[in-house]
Amino acid sequence: MFDYKTLAVKGVQKLSPYIPGKPISELEREMGISNIIKLASNENPLGSSPKAIEAMQKAIGDIELYPDGNGFELKKALSAKHNISMDGITLGNGSNDVLVLLAEAFLTPELNAVYSQYCFAVYPLAIQAVGATHKQIPAKSWDSDSPLGHDLDVMYDAIDENTRLVFIANPNNPTGNHLSESVLKNFIAKVPENVIVVVDEAYLEYSSDDEVVDASLWLSEFKNLVVTRTFSKAYGLAGLRVGYALSNPDIANVLNRIREPFNVNSLALAAAQAAIDDKDFLQKSLVENRKGMHILEQTCQKLDLRFVPSKGNFLLIDFAQESSGIYMELLKRGIITRPVGNYGLPNYLRITIGTQAQMQRLDKAMEEVCG
Ligand code: PMP
Repeated sequence: MFDYKTLAVKGVQKLSPYIPGKPISELEREMGISNIIKLASNENPLGSSPKAIEAMQKAIGDIELYPDGNGFELKKALSAKHNISMDGITLGNGSNDVLVLLAEAFLTPELNAVYSQYCFAVYPLAIQAVGATHKQIPAKSWDSDSPLGHDLDVMYDAIDENTRLVFIANPNNPTGNHLSESVLKNFIAKVPENVIVVVDEAYLEYSSDDEVVDASLWLSEFKNLVVTRTFSKAYGLAGLRVGYALSNPDIANVLNRIREPFNVNSLALAAAQAAIDDKDFLQKSLVENRKGMHILEQTCQKLDLRFVPSKGNFLLIDFAQESSGIYMELLKRGIITRPVGNYGLPNYLRITIGTQAQMQRLDKAMEEVCG
């Protein structure tokens, strides 16, 4: 039998596929249980904005038509929100899409991209898929100022003449830690202009106004900066797949050349545009997240489990032993969490913040399992 894997580009032969959180329907099938809560994929436990749902219901009447491939109305709304020209926006089928476009547009097998250990798993996948070299830089240690966080000094030292991209998630997934404005800005200022710095702000909306680090405000200062955002998290539209990149128009022009012509579907365009205006829903989501986070932090403190202080909608918890048994015990109680062994963190679970009621249920379950 011919092995078709041998035909794949070298990077693809070596990569391990992304492992998503377990779907609720799969656990129902496997264990025959109901009343399941999924705390595995950093989804919004409050659902999505009613305004977004209403906009989708209106848009469904035109579903036989292709979407606006240019996403004019959504780009107009994003342009006003970010005070950036429309030609600096690239829409994606989730922000995952624009991360992949960046790798496809700027990397070749002779080039490399730099990212941190314990970063979002899609960066090494996107880099390897185009056959480029992925330079993973060790994260900071537990007893540093940013446990398991990006070490920007070492990342800077790793940049060489063949580096074209640096990926930084702020806040980072799966760790939840976050870089201060001065640290991040000083790093970007040092990076040569032919190296594009991608700052992935998928979880930015979970930071309060006084602590938020919004790299999109520096776009006019740094021509090599790309900021990615998503509607999947605080906006609660993960199932629709819509995200975007903000950059200087030259970079957006390159990304738009290789983007699928209709990469964002018409329901997603309509819903995202409506969601931007629903500040109430966003605010409610942040408040619920803060309360749920507090409950889970207290659970951990009670059970003597250390965790990485998180600026996202999830918490990375160290169970001080291989965590698969705990994961299974929580599954039996109808609670899906996220193992992170594939990130090199076999003793940890990443748990998404649910509603306060869900966090109380998790508290009980964790007490039974770990107490
Ligand atoms: N960046 C980070 C840091 C993420 O955690 C995720 C989702 N897990 C994404 C990007 C991609 O999200 P989406 O494609 O849904 O926008």
